[in-house]
Amino acid sequence: MNAQQVLDNLKLRFPGEPEYHQAVEEVLSTIEEEYNKHPEFDKANLIERLCIPDRIYTFRVSWQDDSGKIQTNMGYRVQHNNAIGPYKGGIRFHASVNLGILKFLAFEQTFKNSLTTLPMGGAKGGSDFSPRGKSNAEVMRFCQAFMLELTRNIGPDVDVPAGDIGVGGREVGYMFGMYKKLTHEFSGVLTGKGREFGGSLIRPEATGYGNVYFLQEMLKTRGLSVEGKTVLISGAGNVAQYTAEKVLQLGGKVLTMSDSDGYIYDPDGIDREKLDYIMELKNIYRGRIREYVDHYPTAKYVAGQKPWNEKADIALPSATQNEISEEAAQALVNNGVIAVSEGANMPSTPGAIRVFQKAKILYAPGKAANAGGVSVSGLEMSQNSERLSWTAEEVDHRLHIIMEDIHANCLKYGTEPDGYINYVKGANIAGFIKVAKAMMAQGIV
Ligand code: NDP
Repeated sequence: MNAQQVLDNLKLRFPGEPEYHQAVEEVLSTIEEEYNKHPEFDKANLIERLCIPDRIYTFRVSWQDDSGKIQTNMGYRVQHNNAIGPYKGGIRFHASVNLGILKFLAFEQTFKNSLTTLPMGGAKGGSDFSPRGKSNAEVMRFCQAFMLELTRNIGPDVDVPAGDIGVGGREVGYMFGMYKKLTHEFSGVLTGKGREFGGSLIRPEATGYGNVYFLQEMLKTRGLSVEGKTVLISGAGNVAQYTAEKVLQLGGKVLTMSDSDGYIYDPDGIDREKLDYIMELKNIYRGRIREYVDHYPTAKYVAGQKPWNEKADIALPSATQNEISEEAAQALVNNGVIAVSEGANMPSTPGAIRVFQKAKILYAPGKAANAGGVSVSGLEMSQNSERLSWTAEEVDHRLHIIMEDIHANCLKYGTEPDGYINYVKGANIAGFIKVAKAMMAQGIV
């Protein structure tokens, strides 16, 4: 395989999907050497079969808003690869959603799910519908209309969606209700469900907690810990909130959080009480992060900016893709950052990754560091199949072990001759090998 040729070919066949091209390029450039050690892979054109999704569903979603107007949105489900288990991956509701973004996410998800050690294939779905500013009733009607179409393409042994940006417990609940109504079946078809109807304990916390567990493993390689470190977090949603919670539990100091309008910087640190305020603001009142400074006037709000120019030891991007530019990465490095661990998917641009790796700081890509979310989703599927519910301690313990295993796998495949750990390479190769072997064993399908 010639990685550049494969990429050029994909760009020609699938133009106008820059995020998909970006994700594929990152993986191909790091697995090329390993891939070429296996001539049988090339003979089976494994690489194209791994990069191009198995199938994609695209549909119109029609729903009625509170004023009686009929609205239309687009819905998608990208089923990327099910070589090692049923398709699995979140659903994103955000105005920016398009097919290229979902293809990048489904592609990444395939490697991530392979890394978790659990039997899950990769998928992603969503809509350009944004829950922001919509009433509860509107969100419910949209979720129902979305599921009306998606139902026929998913199932507990086929494809098991979960949440992502704009899809939390409320949206999963509405979609689950509609699936149940349409199929007359109570099954584990979605994860991230409410605790009362099959949701796993620790699932809401899992992505954020898992990212901090991964960070701890990285810091250990340099004899360091989270205690006493200053931390920049972006986002104020599910991942950001529980990332902050775990950092606080481990004695770190959280300086920033953000939303798509700007960020807050609190020089005294966002402590437990302040984080509770943010959780209530975001999860119950669905407010904006700028309201924080009305309550805590010693903090500042910076509109229209991201938090990466602030000085801190650690950065944990937890909002969205491409939120750290090359310049922002340079600012972080100039300010002495020692570790960047991605809660979001692909938050660092290729230029930013080059800056981190050149400076030899600890840098973990999302497909390794944020795999805790889908891991606990996998554990939720196990509990649903068993019709049992495990304790929070048990789930958290398993999550901890999975994150340690992912870290060990990154070390195995990513340690360079000078001892620097290239976590991007480690995660990509470890994730790839398992899927590739499964695909080879299953023939040309
Ligand atoms: P939420 O919707 O709960 O929160 C998203 C946060 O990011 C919000 O604060 C939102 O601000 C902000 N945000 C969203 N889009 C943008 C944008 N274009 N520019 C700036 N800020 C933005 O989503 P999650 O916390 O679930 O997801 C965050 C990231 O983590 C995503 O990259 C997701 O793919 C990834 N992830 C999530 C997992 C999960 O279990 N939920 C698992 C693994 C990865 P606003 O309110 O203004 O929109």
